[in-house]
Amino acid sequence: MNILTFGPNGSGKGTQGAIIKDKYNVAHIESGAIFRKNIGGGTELGKQAKEYIDRGELVPDDITIPMILDRLKEDDCKNGWLLDGFPRNKVQGETLAKALADDGIKLDYVVEIILPRDVAKLRITGRRLCTNDNNHPNHIAFDAIKPVEKDGKIVCRVCGGELSARADDQDDVAIDKRHDIYYDETTGTMAACIFFKGLGGDTKVISVDGGPSIQEVSDAIMSQLS
Ligand code: AMP
Repeated sequence: MNILTFGPNGSGKGTQGAIIKDKYNVAHIESGAIFRKNIGGGTELGKQAKEYIDRGELVPDDITIPMILDRLKEDDCKNGWLLDGFPRNKVQGETLAKALADDGIKLDYVVEIILPRDVAKLRITGRRLCTNDNNHPNHIAFDAIKPVEKDGKIVCRVCGGELSARADDQDDVAIDKRHDIYYDETTGTMAACIFFKGLGGDTKVISVDGGPSIQEVSDAIMSQLS
């Protein structure tokens, strides 16, 4: 099963992707997480990507596109994949569509999580990343997923791991830039989303409201995934 996911930063895309990955045993490929891992590891790719990420801009296509197309060729993708954070603009979308067509790979689902921009922004600033698993949901403003306190420290509610806040999640200008790119229907992420939603054929579109709880959003997606 091959799945593309769309949703503004803060819509819960990563959390839902992790739930789908666990249920269907597909590779969960998160472009942003790949970059952050490389930044953490001090790799050349990380060094190149960091300045763009800190500013809330896209890492250039000539770095990002081959990174993801190569990743799709790895062994764990044979059982299917879920792309999260890619494509992020029209060019990435068109290049991915061509690469899939060239390799005869079918796209089964386009999952779109819809959330108004102001709500997405509020969610971004309060979210915290667990160092053990960045898909453990933790948010300082939502009771259902509030981090817990241990030995006077705020830790992950799922595993007790250390928490951190992403620098680009605390920078107002960077958040707005990321959302400008997401909601841009001409060359941005929505342009790619609209393109893939219009593919037709065997590709099924699942659009859900990202407003309700994690469980409710997950139920809405799962009820339409076969
Ligand atoms: P995310 O974790 O999806 O919010 O991504 C964090 C940052 O990584 C983004 O703001 C971009 O700077 C970069 N990034 C992630 N995915 C892409 C992509 N497909 N193309 C370019 N840059 C990306």
